[in-house]
Amino acid sequence: MKNLWEKYGKGEEKEKVMNFCEEYKLFLSKCKTERECVAFAIEMAEKKGFQNLADLIEKKKKLKAGDKVYAVNMDKSVMLFVVGEQPIEKGINIVGAHIDSPRLDLKAKPFYESQGFCMIDTHYYGGIKKYQWIAQPLALHGVVFRKDGSKVSICLGEDDDCGSFVITDLLPHLDKDDKKDVKGEDLNLIAGNVPAQEEKENKFKKFVLELLKQFNIEEDDFFSAEIEVVPSGKARDCGLDRSMILGYGHDDRVCAYANLMAMLEVEKPKHSVLSLLVDKEEIGSVGATGMHSKFFENTIAEIMELCGQYTELGLRRALNNSNMISSDVTAGVDPNYVSPYNVETDAHLARGISFNKFTGARGKSGANDANPEFIAQLRDCLDKAEVAYQATEMGKVDQGGGGTIAYIMAKYGMNVIDAGVPVLNMHAPWEVVSKVDVYETYRAYKAFFGMEIKPY
Ligand code: MN
Ligand code: MN
Repeated sequence: MKNLWEKYGKGEEKEKVMNFCEEYKLFLSKCKTERECVAFAIEMAEKKGFQNLADLIEKKKKLKAGDKVYAVNMDKSVMLFVVGEQPIEKGINIVGAHIDSPRLDLKAKPFYESQGFCMIDTHYYGGIKKYQWIAQPLALHGVVFRKDGSKVSICLGEDDDCGSFVITDLLPHLDKDDKKDVKGEDLNLIAGNVPAQEEKENKFKKFVLELLKQFNIEEDDFFSAEIEVVPSGKARDCGLDRSMILGYGHDDRVCAYANLMAMLEVEKPKHSVLSLLVDKEEIGSVGATGMHSKFFENTIAEIMELCGQYTELGLRRALNNSNMISSDVTAGVDPNYVSPYNVETDAHLARGISFNKFTGARGKSGANDANPEFIAQLRDCLDKAEVAYQATEMGKVDQGGGGTIAYIMAKYGMNVIDAGVPVLNMHAPWEVVSKVDVYETYRAYKAFFGMEIKPY
């Protein structure tokens, strides 16, 4: 296996990788919530001529081959679709990523006082190591809805115009055991230390709420809010060679971005193509905006209807005949922690997009196990496009494992395989990817979108 910088290390090729990753860094720095990712995807899609499916349904517009549409689900997941020349029931080439990342969410009643501080109470989301979220600058991103339905978008703690937030750690002098046993209930942000002048009770909390009046919101409005606590600051280059990117939320926004960029370049495909960017993967793909929801198949039905192709049986055939790459990150072998890995069979940074034939844990439990017939065709497709890929697992057999949205899509009978970017430090506030893998993953998705759909 060769390090991909041997291919991309200089000249025009290097420039392409670096330019692609500069744009990715801007996206990652700005889009730290599902809603921010969806807004970004819509903006990019509209520039490329994608139309809002809801508008088309409203106006009873017809769709034809080459037309581009997008469908939004509660502002937290989005689907992009380009109509192919072949009937949709012949199958769709689908790439699906998730745009939610591990973080802390604000509670519905987040503000309280302690020891002369205004504090903000959180409830963590997804699989985190809790100690990693303390003693570093944090920001609040999200939305608040007032009772009249009006929305306020919040982004606090990123710039100098507002202070950042922090969950403090105990100084070593008072923490002789240093067990790092942080409880979920102890993940509380420091939000202020100035009392409101005229008040007798809760004056520290009231002063912070006074400041929030600039947004015309009050304490009760946080019940109808979705505010996420995320690391403050921009994605940045990592390493003296600047070969990697250190950023929050590579899992799975790196695959989401590569997926989106590949999709935006699709023109007049033979088979229909679809990009899925979904929410709630980190907590089991549940709820109205997760992959388990009916949004995906309902939207395919709507698109088939506008194409004059909808029947119940046609929809089932379309889903059954589709191919899918579940575009999610995998664990790269970490030089600091080699023992949980099998270095022969696990993913390495800078060796290209990483395919997990199966995921699951301890005897493949819960896995989608991709069909070798499908994989053989994929290998041929990627080799022809000169895409570098690795066939990997995630950790030693009895050690590792994980899940993605793959098994949920596989239940329709389609061919599904997991493939994405290897990551170091996954689920930590700052994760690491290699720039060549980001670029190669985008190239892989692009090749896949043009792949022939064969019945197996
Ligand atoms: Mn993931
Ligand atoms: Mn994850």
